Amino acid sequence: MTDPRRGELVCDVAISGGGMVGCALGCALAQQGLRVALIEQKEPQRDWPAEEVDLRVSALSRASQVMLENLGVWEAMGRMRVSPYRRMQVWDAVGKGSIEFDASEIGEPDLGHIVENRVTRLALWDRLGEFDNLVSLCPDRVVQISLEQDGARLELMSGRNLRAGLLVGAEGALSPVRDMAGITSSGWDYDQHAIVATVWPEFNHESVARQRFMPAGPLALLPIDDGRCSIVWSTSPDEADRLMGLDDERFLQELTAASENVLGQITRTGPRGVFPLRLRNADRYVKAGLALVGDAAHGVHPLAGQGVNLGFMDAAVLADVIAEAGRAGRSLGSLGTLRRYERARKGATIGMLGTMDMFKRLFSNRNLPLIKLRNLGLGLVDNSGPLKYTIIRRAMGMAGERPTLARRIPWQPGDGGL
Ligand SMILES: Cc1cc2nc3c(=O)[nH]c(=O)nc-3n(C[C@H](O)[C@H](O)[C@H](O)COP(=O)(O)OP(=O)(O)OC[C@H]3O[C@@H](n4cnc5c(N)ncnc54)[C@H](O)[C@@H]3O)c2cc1C
Repeated sequence: MTDPRRGELVCDVAISGGGMVGCALGCALAQQGLRVALIEQKEPQRDWPAEEVDLRVSALSRASQVMLENLGVWEAMGRMRVSPYRRMQVWDAVGKGSIEFDASEIGEPDLGHIVENRVTRLALWDRLGEFDNLVSLCPDRVVQISLEQDGARLELMSGRNLRAGLLVGAEGALSPVRDMAGITSSGWDYDQHAIVATVWPEFNHESVARQRFMPAGPLALLPIDDGRCSIVWSTSPDEADRLMGLDDERFLQELTAASENVLGQITRTGPRGVFPLRLRNADRYVKAGLALVGDAAHGVHPLAGQGVNLGFMDAAVLADVIAEAGRAGRSLGSLGTLRRYERARKGATIGMLGTMDMFKRLFSNRNLPLIKLRNLGLGLVDNSGPLKYTIIRRAMGMAGERPTLARRIPWQPGDGGL
């Protein structure tokens, strides 16, 4: 991949950022036979005590699972740990409204899996190492870019120079490549912080993901296969500060109360972490020579567990667009090619951002008629049959048109149409 005349690395696609989304895209493009360079500042964590659950977990949808299967990493993830959830219970702390989703209602074995982010990233990273046509430049960072009509030139912190047919920004929310390209973002603070921890409840969770909506923010109790739960407790920044300042005993008392004792007493907690929450959408996902994927393009409230699922679908759609451009003999980095990606993804993302924002506002509202209405709405949807099945299938990424990597080919019984 090195051009001997200039001493620069030449590739079809350079990906800046090797998080879950950047690595998934790297595997997808290397699988197509393209020459890929992946630039990442930090190697993934490789070893951890078997009983330790990472603070950062994600609820992976069926569409993401299928993509990870097609990239050849799902089995390796299963050997580390993936925890299926078969039911989901959502209820309103103010009033009696509740809704329950059950995988068996739509003939599926589960609704999705709770997976530590480091498990997903490590499995993808190891898979990247199996491709001769992919180089990982790590630790390294992009320090300067120059975008051209059909490609990009990059300078890395190590002093290395790269020429790529397309540069992809996948460095998460603070994407430097997005900033270097002058792409602005729109959005606002949710005025909520999310506290995350692994906790030990008194009763087994029975593989049910639970979420209680309180006016200050939702509390999610996500099942880990050994009976523990990973919590995501979103609340106001001041309240998050207060909760983070409590000793374990007091924190567990408050957590038990906030969970309405749904799993009995919460008896133990691991270390806690806190993340500020922000809605953000890049004003453009593409420029000639550049595309943004994952959190570099958008940031969504974790209440529906959709952030990385959206990012994986970005990667899958971009892989399709690139494959199609290759077949048609079009340049990978031309605006004409990349606009196909932007058109396909911006609508889906704005729809998700809007829905999550509406949920957040709806459940934090203390207006009595609205509280009555939303409780009524939850009950109606719970008993609605087809509407409820549509919601489940949509949350699992099984509704509508799906990119190639998110489809099981050939179709097998029990695939739920994927
Ligand atoms: C509390 C919480 C709970 C969540 N729960 C869920 C959930 O249940 N389901 C879900 O789908 N999503 C969830 N999310 C969202 C999910 O975590 C993100 O959408 C996802 O991590 C984004 O992945 P990414 O690869 O785009 O970015 P990141 O995970 O941020 O990865 C970016 C990578 O780029 C690297 N990098 C950064 N800067 C540079 C640089 N200059 N040069 C080179 N490399 C660089 C970083 O080291 C990192 O490896 C949650 C988020 C939060 C905060």
